[in-house]
Amino acid sequence: MATKYVYFFGGGKADGNESMKNLLGGKGANLAEMAGSKDLRLPVPPGFTITTEVCMHYYKNKRTYPKSLEQEVMKAMEKIEKLMARKFGDAANPLLVSVRSGARRSMPGMMETVLNIGLTEKTIPGLIERSNGNSRFVYDAYRRLLMMYSDVVMEKAAGIEPKDEESGIRKQLEKIMVQMKKEKGYQSDTDLTSDDLKKLTQLFKAKIKEVLKKDFPDEHLEQLWGGIGAVFVSWNGKRAVSYRRIEGIPDEWGTAVTVQAMVFGNMGSDSATGVAFTRNPGNGENKFYGEYLINAQGEDVVAGIRTPAPINEYSKSEHNRDLLTLEKTMPKIYQALFDIQKRLERHYRDMQDIEFTIEKGRLFMLQCRVGKRNGPAAVRMGMDMLKEKLIKKEEAVMRVTPSQLDELLHPIIDPKAELAHKPLAKGLPAGPGGANGQIVFSAHDAVEWAKQGKKVILVREETNPEDVEGMRAAQAILTARGGMTSHAALVARGWGKCCIVGCSALHVDYEKKELSVDGKVLKEGDWVTLNGTKGNLYEGRLPMMDASEENELLSKFLKVCDSIKRLGIRTNADTPEDARRARQFGAEGIGLFRTEHMFYGKGAEEPLFRLRKMIISKTEAERRKALDELFPYVKKDIKGTLEAMDGFPVVVRLLDPPLHEFVPREQDKLEQLATDLNITLDELAKRAEGLHESNPMMGHRGVRLGITYPEVSEMQVRAIFEAAAELLKEGKNPYPEIMIPVVCEVKELNDQLAIVQKVYSQVLAKYNLKKIKSMFGTMIEIPRASIVADKLAQVAEFFSYGTNDMTQMGFGFSRDDIGGFLPDYIKKGILPEDPFQTIDVEGIGELIKIGIERGRKTRKNLEVGICGEHGGDPRSVEFCHRVGMDYVSCSPFRVPIARLAAAQVVLKEKVKK
Ligand code: PEP
Ligand code: MG
Repeated sequence: MATKYVYFFGGGKADGNESMKNLLGGKGANLAEMAGSKDLRLPVPPGFTITTEVCMHYYKNKRTYPKSLEQEVMKAMEKIEKLMARKFGDAANPLLVSVRSGARRSMPGMMETVLNIGLTEKTIPGLIERSNGNSRFVYDAYRRLLMMYSDVVMEKAAGIEPKDEESGIRKQLEKIMVQMKKEKGYQSDTDLTSDDLKKLTQLFKAKIKEVLKKDFPDEHLEQLWGGIGAVFVSWNGKRAVSYRRIEGIPDEWGTAVTVQAMVFGNMGSDSATGVAFTRNPGNGENKFYGEYLINAQGEDVVAGIRTPAPINEYSKSEHNRDLLTLEKTMPKIYQALFDIQKRLERHYRDMQDIEFTIEKGRLFMLQCRVGKRNGPAAVRMGMDMLKEKLIKKEEAVMRVTPSQLDELLHPIIDPKAELAHKPLAKGLPAGPGGANGQIVFSAHDAVEWAKQGKKVILVREETNPEDVEGMRAAQAILTARGGMTSHAALVARGWGKCCIVGCSALHVDYEKKELSVDGKVLKEGDWVTLNGTKGNLYEGRLPMMDASEENELLSKFLKVCDSIKRLGIRTNADTPEDARRARQFGAEGIGLFRTEHMFYGKGAEEPLFRLRKMIISKTEAERRKALDELFPYVKKDIKGTLEAMDGFPVVVRLLDPPLHEFVPREQDKLEQLATDLNITLDELAKRAEGLHESNPMMGHRGVRLGITYPEVSEMQVRAIFEAAAELLKEGKNPYPEIMIPVVCEVKELNDQLAIVQKVYSQVLAKYNLKKIKSMFGTMIEIPRASIVADKLAQVAEFFSYGTNDMTQMGFGFSRDDIGGFLPDYIKKGILPEDPFQTIDVEGIGELIKIGIERGRKTRKNLEVGICGEHGGDPRSVEFCHRVGMDYVSCSPFRVPIARLAAAQVVLKEKVKK
């Protein structure tokens, strides 16, 4: 049997189908599917696809076609003519066609397309007649054909290389059009009248002859073959070839050519065009939703020149309420469209975005594809379709992206409004969601203004622990310096608050209470809006959208995720409230309780004062006294948190931060401290000076404090065990895991373990208990710790990766200042992204892997988790799964995202296998 080169589609039939992408190209195969699949048989404009084999034949045989092609094409053209009831090249009732490219894989914009083929001086009058005398439309179509054809077929495909871009034929024709508009004083193309366009087509033809030394072929068949040839030639056009190199698409694939009947929605009041969705993409409701325009072409709907009308009552909005629906104006067509969209959804098993055209009372489906949707809609559709048994639970989980989920957890800027505004500046996206408010420049003002009921944005050069109250009172926080793991970022994320840090274009002037960006000055009280998910700062007050309230559907969706994931999801929480909130978000324990955070913010005055005393103490006796005073506060906090997480593990980390951070700066606080310690202000200043370090992040912090001041560790360990013991006595089920930070050597751990064991037996005796369920472990956050992990695991029962410090020390990038140079690194492609946000798999990831392997060699059942900020980043969560961690831990608001990411990675692995 002779090889078949032409595959027809239309009239409820198709020679091909979706599975034939290799032969028909993506576009040809999809059209065949829509037209011919048993359950679809949609009214797509009829057409045919010339196979990719013809393309290969063309190149192998000196740019000629297989012998039988012409006959096959002509036969297929006849079929189109029959179905469309018009004839190609006919003066009275002409058929026009488009000629398009289509490779196996989409190569957007890389190859050529010619529309309106078949329009000639001979067929123009007939088309005008058929379009109710709309000569403007016909001449506009003709001038488009002249432009496209001369460019694609007569110049590019003919191998004519213009001297420069300006002398290409398309540019020259455009210049004529611009000149005409200028002479007539028109603003836009739509101002051109029918006569203008007619004149233009004559000028175009003359120019084509002058430049290309050839007449434009005013003959329909010549146009058709010219178009087909040009598409094949475009497979080896410069753009297409270099795109293939980049994308790794083999040259032998070739392109198919699809020839399809043109249909027009602008042929009078019985014609229309529109776009619709099988479900509402804004909220996910299972309701047909869309817009249309009578007597218009596709691009008019998108261009926004006319207000499109709703297709049905459900699609009505404030702006189009008074316009007639398609359901009313063309009820039969609406019914047919409604039926089609139902079938499309069943066939593709997902929400479809469809384009349709009605030409003189006849409905045509032009395209369908999976529709874009926002977060709330994605969750709703996934869960609804699961219930409708349209999809399986694995598919439902893959249908929601982590960033879509984020939209459900925080208020966001209304996306439409955001699109219409240019950001004033960009920083690092430290706390997701959106917020607007009036700017203030001190924590004190933030608190005061908020008390008066104002919405404020706290703007700081950088934040320190003393800003915490102001940060809490503000809608959002904006800083000029800092990185993704800086203090402001950590704290804001923990509260689910919008925050941008490291916005280095910002100049903050505390004296004048103003900020400036590129010469633009904003004063205290001016409104700004932040997008903390993207790191964009906008001037003014942009409207917000809030989908973040209690959402039953979301909890159900996340339960489905839980049934698939392997990783445990814990939270970083430092207060009983945070712990409770995290439980609601689905946390299965606490992966990091930063003891020092209990000295921040609300109600922290008293313990903070005692902590300061402890820090400033000179002798052990002084320090022990301060520690005794501090003990009840620490114990109470830990007890509250263990209780809120009853039955789940709680990793309590011993004090970590550089001590000087806690030395007060305000005069009254300094005086109070001096009086209580019975020393002079001078002596206090001296002691504070003594705490000063050149590199505090590499200084006297973490386990190093416990080594020099064992009594500090002792107090904390006692607080932990006594809290647990009391809860046991109350019939609860506490499970503390004691974690030692900033460790780089096993002897450090041995030293601390001795303290833990001593206190443990004392507490057992005191409470008359046999056992308190607990674990002893370490953070791995210094590169050396990963290398000696086999030794550390001799003592540590668990590891928790502190990837904030690990990234800082692995790269040698300060986690607080990276905002200053990171944008340049990204712009120049030196780093693909912020390594403090997403784990650098190649370097830091390798350190993590080494640590896990070595650690588990020593201790097979070593528990391994992560508590750095990466624990809430979807791609890093995937990495943690792959390297075999037991859990990830992140701020409460990121727990749902981690649950989703942990489920998705399981499904992705299955696909790979
Ligand atoms: C870390 O370093 O990753 C970590 C969790 O500890 P911190 O951020 O408190 O230094
Ligand atoms: Mg750390």
